[in-house]
Amino acid sequence: MSRAVVLVVVVMFVAACAPQSEAISDSQDALGRLKKGNLRFSENHPTHPHEGAARLRETSVGGQHPFAVVVACSDSRVPVELLFDQGIGDLFVIRVAGNVCGEDELASIEYAVEHFGVRLVVILGHSQCGAVTAVVQGAKEHSHIDHLLQRIDPAVKAARRESPLLAGEELIAASVRQNVLHTMEELLKGNCLPSCVSA
Ligand SMILES: [Zn+2]
Repeated sequence: MSRAVVLVVVVMFVAACAPQSEAISDSQDALGRLKKGNLRFSENHPTHPHEGAARLRETSVGGQHPFAVVVACSDSRVPVELLFDQGIGDLFVIRVAGNVCGEDELASIEYAVEHFGVRLVVILGHSQCGAVTAVVQGAKEHSHIDHLLQRIDPAVKAARRESPLLAGEELIAASVRQNVLHTMEELLKGNCLPSCVSA
């Protein structure tokens, strides 16, 4: 049986520079809600909140009020709402292979903070990430895939610099962690949330 996918998380708290999300008092409150949901999931007791046609109608009429932004990998084993036991309208999710952060992802985060008052940004990496593994193994790709892998390359270089003796699965795991940190740095460098973000 294959090992469970392990998550690597970096959170950023957004100060009160935007309208507040519904029923969330602050960023710590939002993080606590995510942690509780992940605990329910990991203990196999999810409540599957905010699902179904009624919730769809509610968010259609009343608008969306997500309480956190999550930047995650597109890997099919990392379904964000399921992992945090959240439902429709709860999370503003940006998924891209390797959970990288470029102009489009930055714009999406900025939009959520400015328009929905989201107070918490989570960068979510995971074990067995194919995109990170490809860079570690020096895979030769083409066109768009190669472009994406180039964005992960600085994280793998940083992992090698920090721990020159690592190889194989250990190097991949270290690179996943560095990739999450690198994405956070890109977000901060992007100035999409001036004076509002702390790591
Ligand atoms: Zn991945």
